Order: sequence, then C-alpha cells, then structure tokens
Amino acid sequence: MNPFTYVRAANSDDAIATLTREPQAMFIAGGTNILDLMKEGVHTPSQLVDIRKLPSTEIVTKDNGGIRIGATLRNSDAAYNSLVQERYPVLSEAILAGASAQLRNMATVGGNLMQRTRCSYFHDTAFACNKRQPGSGCAALEGFNRMHAVLGTSEHCIAAHPSDMCVALVALDAVVQTQGPRGERSIPITDFHLLPGETPHLETVLEHGEIITAVDLPEMPLAWRSHYLKIRDRASYAFALVSAAVVLEIDEEVIRNARIALGGVGTKPWRSLEAEQVLVGAPATQETFTAAADAAMQEARPYRHNQFKIELAKRTLEEALKTVAAISGGQA
Ligand SMILES: Cc1cc2nc3c(=O)[nH]c(=O)nc-3n(C[C@H](O)[C@H](O)[C@H](O)COP(=O)(O)OP(=O)(O)OC[C@H]3O[C@@H](n4cnc5c(N)ncnc54)[C@H](O)[C@@H]3O)c2cc1C
Ligand code: SF4
Repeated sequence: MNPFTYVRAANSDDAIATLTREPQAMFIAGGTNILDLMKEGVHTPSQLVDIRKLPSTEIVTKDNGGIRIGATLRNSDAAYNSLVQERYPVLSEAILAGASAQLRNMATVGGNLMQRTRCSYFHDTAFACNKRQPGSGCAALEGFNRMHAVLGTSEHCIAAHPSDMCVALVALDAVVQTQGPRGERSIPITDFHLLPGETPHLETVLEHGEIITAVDLPEMPLAWRSHYLKIRDRASYAFALVSAAVVLEIDEEVIRNARIALGGVGTKPWRSLEAEQVLVGAPATQETFTAAADAAMQEARPYRHNQFKIELAKRTLEEALKTVAAISGGQA
C-alpha cells in the first residue's frame, strides 16, 4: 500500500479546490471500487478527498417534470425511492440487479458512473494494460476475453463497461451535472463515457477536480413502459454477461417511441440507435423484435472467447422487448 493522506470535504467548492491543488488526489465516495483498486496497486492517490458527506443525497422533482438525483445518494436509496420506482422503474431494476445489498448500501450514484472496468488484466499489475498504463499493450486481446466487449472496441482495449445503473441511465436520456474548476456542466450521459480508441485510459469527459453533483432524468410520461434484463453467470451478485434496458411507448400495438441500451457488450454503456430505428413505427411483434435485436448487434466484433455474447445479447434484448410489450398490452 502506498502512503496517502485523507481529508473530508466540507462542501463541493472545498472538494474541487483540494483536488485541483493536488494532481494525484482522488475523490472517494462509497469506496467500494476505489479501495479495491488501491489495494491492488492500480490506483496510488497521494490524497483521498472524501465527498461522502456532501449534501447531494436528495431526489427532487424539477420544474420540467423530470427528477434530479444527488450524486452522493446511496445506490439502495436511489433504487427504493418511490419517485424512481413509480416513474423510472427500469432504473430501480438496473440498480437492484447490480452488486449485493451490502455494496449497494455503500456505493453512490456518482461512484457508479465512475467505476472502472472489471477486466482482470486491468486489475492485475503483472499484466500489460493500456488502460492502466498507456502504451504498455493489452493482455486481453490474446488472453482470456470471455467477459469482454464486442461493440465499441479498439485494437488498444476491449474491456466491457461494468455498470448496470448506467445502462438504464442511457435508455432514460439522463444528463450528468458536474461542477469543476471551470464551472458547471450538463453532460448528456451518452457523451459522458468515452470509447477506448487510442486512449483507453481516458474513460470519461470528467476533468481532474471536476465532481459529479447530480444526475437528471427527463420527464417520462406514464405511457412509457420499461424493463431491465440482466444475464449473468450466477444468481447471486455478478457482473452482466449481457443486459438490456428497454423503454417503449406502445399505442394500439404500434411502437411510437423506443429507447434501447445494452450492457456487458460495449466498451461504454451502449445506446442502440440501430435497434430504435427498427422499432419506431413498427408493430410490436416478434418479427419486429428479432429485427431490432439483429440490428443492435450488426456491428458486433467478437474475440476468441466471447462470440457467444452476440447471440446472447440478441435473445436478451428480444426477451426484454417482449416483456415490455406484454406490460403495455402489445401482442408479442
Ligand atoms: C463484489 C462487487 C460486485 C459488484 N457488482 C456490480 C454489478 O453487478 N453491477 C454494477 O453496476 N456494479 C457492481 N459493482 C460496482 C459497484 O457498483 C461500484 O463499486 C460502486 O457503484 C462505486 O460507487 P462508490 O460510491 O463506492 O465509488 P468509489 O469507490 O468511492 O469511487 C469510485 C470512483 O468514482 C470516483 N467518484 C466517486 N464519486 C464521484 C463524484 N461524485 N464525482 C466524481 N468522481 C467520483 C472516485 O474518485 C473513484 O475514482 C460491484 C462491486 C463489487 C466490489
Ligand atoms: S482490455 Fe483494456 S482494460 Fe483489459 S487489458 Fe486490455 S487495455 Fe487493459
């Protein structure tokens, strides 16, 4: 373990100023990800700035009909919040599909957005990893890559994004609110996480010292119905092999609107505009759902051990679409 100092931030200005002064400092919220990475020697911060006690733990309704979720709210409090359960059930389902009850009681919304990949080579400093050490290579390309991504990969990194919550946030058109040395920003969630490209060590657009303060969800009329379906290796807590977040508006058995996102298959939480294009304006039938699932995985590129994810993702998305159609009174 490397030596580090610890301070608790009094407010977000204090947290930002402390990090800005110290290039190797990092925020800690629930600590469920960063502490593991410190024990593994992946993160070696000079200072931890604890933001857990900042007063951003509320869920409030906004004038535009949406809601704002504070960044230091616990994942379990977000999942069991009545506004979230009634109006954005796909988010509640996704959070509850992630980790264990104990972890969800510690983990925060901001930390979930910032959690790092579970690629085992990233976690083991004995292996080459461009994400951990730029330019060192990628052990997963020729290694055991069963859990890795098939969409959005590059020759420099094929790690899957691990978050369940972020998949639902992508399907809900969430906007990430931040505050940093250069002021406040509103960042659409689809722009928040970056594709690996040639710089897999840059995972989000967040700058050093910039803090996530909240996540906004737009108004979602009750006509929209949703479901999060996660497929994993075991029933107790495990990261997704594949997952699908489906949000549909179906009227007289025709799909009027669709938001589709996939987990476990992309290097970032994966919005599938291709699937949405097939769905919107089409009847809510098995044929439409199969065509949408095919479209979603059209660009998929498998590696040695993860070919199975392509068919599994198609079936998962089809199943989630059927479930939403059934609760919407569609025919499939
Ligand atoms: C055994 C295990 C199983 C898990 N299974 C799943 C799963 O199935 N699905 C899933 O989605 N997740 C899973 N997780 C991951 C878990 O959800 C994350 O560890 C958690 O969400 C991180 O939140 P945290 O508050 O503890 O973050 P921390 O560990 O405190 O921080 C993580 C990172 O976020 C940064 N950060 C935190 N808050 C902010 C903020 N407000 N602004 C800017 N940066 C910030 C920190 O600096 C750090 O870099 C699992 C974790 C474990 C240990
Ligand atoms: S897939 Fe990405 S995270 Fe995993 S070893 Fe390769 S570069 Fe590192």
